[in-house]
Amino acid sequence: KKYVYSWGDGKAEGSGKLKDLLGGKGANLAEMSRLGVPVPPGFTITTEMCRFYWENGQKLPEILKEEAGIALKNLEKLSGKKFGDANNPLLVSVRSGAAISMPGMMDTILNLGLNDEVADGLAKLTNNPRFAWDSYRRFMQMLGDVALGIEHEKFEEKLNEIKAKKGVKNDLDLDSDDLHEVVKLYKEVYRSEGKEFPQEPVEQLWVAVEAVFASWNNKRAIKYREINGMDKMGLLGTAVNVQMMAFGNMGESSGTGVAFTRNPNTGEDKTYGEFLLNAQGEDVVAGIRTPQPLDQLKEINPEVHKELIDTMNRLETVFKDMQDIEFTIENGKLYFLQTRNGKRTAAAAVKIAVDMVNEGLITKGTAVTRVKPADIEKLLHPTFDIEELNKAEYFGKGLPASPGAATGMAVFNADDAEAKAKEGLPVILIRPETSPEDIGGMDAAEAILTSTGGMTSHAAVVARGMGKTAVVGAENIVINDKAKTAISNGITIKEGDWLSIEGTEGKVFAGKIKTIKPTGLEGDIKTLLDFADEVSDLGVRANADIPRDAKIAREFGARGIGLCRTEHMFFEGDRIKKMRRMIVSKTKEQREAALAELLPVQKEDFKGLFESMEGYAVTIRLLDPPLHEFVPHEDAAIKDVAESVGITEEELRKVIDDLEEFNPMMGHRGVRLAVTYPEIAEMQIKAIMLAAIEMVKEGKKVKPEIMIPLVGNVKEFTLLRNSAEEIIKNLLKEHQVDVEYKIGTMIEVPRATVTADQIGENADFFSFGTNDLTQLSLGFSRDDYGKYIGDYLEKGIYDSDPFQHIDRNGVGRLIKTAVDLGRGANPHIKLGVCGEHGGDPESVEFCHLVGLDYVSCSPYRVPVARLAAAQAAV
Ligand code: ADP
Ligand code: MG
Ligand code: MG
Repeated sequence: KKYVYSWGDGKAEGSGKLKDLLGGKGANLAEMSRLGVPVPPGFTITTEMCRFYWENGQKLPEILKEEAGIALKNLEKLSGKKFGDANNPLLVSVRSGAAISMPGMMDTILNLGLNDEVADGLAKLTNNPRFAWDSYRRFMQMLGDVALGIEHEKFEEKLNEIKAKKGVKNDLDLDSDDLHEVVKLYKEVYRSEGKEFPQEPVEQLWVAVEAVFASWNNKRAIKYREINGMDKMGLLGTAVNVQMMAFGNMGESSGTGVAFTRNPNTGEDKTYGEFLLNAQGEDVVAGIRTPQPLDQLKEINPEVHKELIDTMNRLETVFKDMQDIEFTIENGKLYFLQTRNGKRTAAAAVKIAVDMVNEGLITKGTAVTRVKPADIEKLLHPTFDIEELNKAEYFGKGLPASPGAATGMAVFNADDAEAKAKEGLPVILIRPETSPEDIGGMDAAEAILTSTGGMTSHAAVVARGMGKTAVVGAENIVINDKAKTAISNGITIKEGDWLSIEGTEGKVFAGKIKTIKPTGLEGDIKTLLDFADEVSDLGVRANADIPRDAKIAREFGARGIGLCRTEHMFFEGDRIKKMRRMIVSKTKEQREAALAELLPVQKEDFKGLFESMEGYAVTIRLLDPPLHEFVPHEDAAIKDVAESVGITEEELRKVIDDLEEFNPMMGHRGVRLAVTYPEIAEMQIKAIMLAAIEMVKEGKKVKPEIMIPLVGNVKEFTLLRNSAEEIIKNLLKEHQVDVEYKIGTMIEVPRATVTADQIGENADFFSFGTNDLTQLSLGFSRDDYGKYIGDYLEKGIYDSDPFQHIDRNGVGRLIKTAVDLGRGANPHIKLGVCGEHGGDPESVEFCHLVGLDYVSCSPYRVPVARLAAAQAAV
């Protein structure tokens, strides 16, 4: 096995492909060398050696020393210098670098190989004693600080001592004698820490190499990997790069800088960067001196500037992505020290991806991988002004239920929200939790905050549907809606106080923060998402209940509605009254009379949806929630309602009591309602088909899909299907038209997944209702699981919130089973997902992997789902 890979002089043993083994930095140094780009020669010790070091008692094997010895000899030959030779010294840097760039590991050590004698020699050789002593003191400081654990501050103190003695502020004002003095004081620092500065260059090298390997598992690095989900990526460790120094600090014809091949803020196709003359390493980013913009290098040294720009363009063409490079100029000679794919803002990511497709540099498939779903979210939702955000007073944290940023005045119930909003005031609705009765207030609010409930709670689902910022389940915020206060982090928010909600991370701040408007789905974002649609196999539909939402969904690129929740239609305006009259009916006749009034209203609703979907499929779910949700619960309301539906208060209370259930989520709902009260489903089926018939008569395209919820037994399904077919047959005959329709079911009861062959034989489509399927499979109530999910995640029982990302090992297997059984019984069956998971990129990937036909999500998540679907496909 080979542990050391050399590069230099237009050649390299490694290459850009070996990132896992050589780390990102090492692999790209090798690749640049192969390309003939001027990089100082050097060698990489592999990540496998790091693994070996940690698995063998933190010791380096003899074989490594031998291999590295040969590489060092080779490096001496390539550089024409000798390690430790005072008359012609080779100095090197020792640089860490894992496969994935990772701040938190050891900092780079520069100028290694210097000691008293070599520093003297370097001073004579270069005729530049200041340079020699400056390099030496920098090296002593870096080796002490990074490799030997001597605090940086201890060195700074001494440096400041000398500066004070001399009466200067800037390092550059110290001359060679001063710096010589600094070196002496630094030696004292070593001694006072019980350490001796190693004079022997080879010893210095191994101290530094070991320190790099050791830093792989320091606290900062471990934390960084944990936060960024890197611990599950099977990284071997960090590589170590040993590289000949290029000196940017040799005077005014030397310098160092960083540059990007395109503007990382805007994406503009123009090189962007900064440099400093007579400087080394991190000076540019350290902010001690103010760097100059790259354009000024053109005036100082046009040849070097041209070589830099030409080479950067070449690197971008080879690596096919925006490059972030480091360079150093030593006495007018240009060296490249690093190239990597540059970090960029969301807007730049989108622009660069689209531009590169247009330039023919990358494919559309590659372009969609260059933009993170979170970038799209950032661009399409408001964000907080970053400066104001940094100064904001932190109030609390909850689940990031619906992205965006909003600021407004606190209100504690839906009525107040509506009243204040009517006065033109921006409000934040704060509730322990929300219910369907709060819809008006939620609609009026800028954002919603709740203290209980999870990612699929009412507040979360509705807010997402409205495209409204929401933080839910903020358990440590104490919300008292009677007293109208919210207390957290030692702050009490009262009615009318300003509050700011950040829904992308789930944070809440006291006070007002300026928001910044999103870009909207136009220009480059639109183009990128069109690329996404071309690349992906998975369709994206929207969950939308009313034409307004459906229109938004279309604008965001949804092709069809995957879920229309008809119950939401019953809350609008005075329909709830008709609904309640239906519910309190004592006889079938009364019920039918009430339903007859609802029918035309529903028909118009459906027609509106069909129209706004322009011929794409619209899946309409028959009434799903328990009737209990439609009756009043407060005394005053009960009195009103009794009056308006024409029964006594007592009678109404009896009805309400009868509807009360211990476990409403597993109660009298879904298909069970239709089994007991077939008239309700019949009315809805009629309304759907009449709307479709009118569309056809008007010469418009329409594809209704009738969806029966909560089926667990094929006989529930066939019972409903048979009666639906009967109704439809009669209607079509009566109106003498043909409508292309489908009848299918939601798969959300575990029993349905394992009997999906029986159901599939009779159904035209399945739509996985993953919210209920998760709730029923795990036995976790989606309204209460917030109390314990934290412990579950902490103890690693689940890797992530199963209501946020599909639980692939459990619920995922049920879905897979249903897909296989369903397709086995009915090869034409259409399969989709309509739970909240449909807008979650990780879950969308799963849907792609099990071969579903589409995902359906709230309108505002459609763009993210389109991107995620494309990313899953490439
Ligand atoms: P990081 O990963 O933190 O960027 P680097 O290893 O890239 O660390 O090095 C830090 C700084 O030192 C960079 O500015 C880099 O260009 C500079 N540097 C590293 N090695 C050399 C070298 N051999 N010659 C000159 N400068 C170097
Ligand atoms: Mg670097
Ligand atoms: Mg359901």
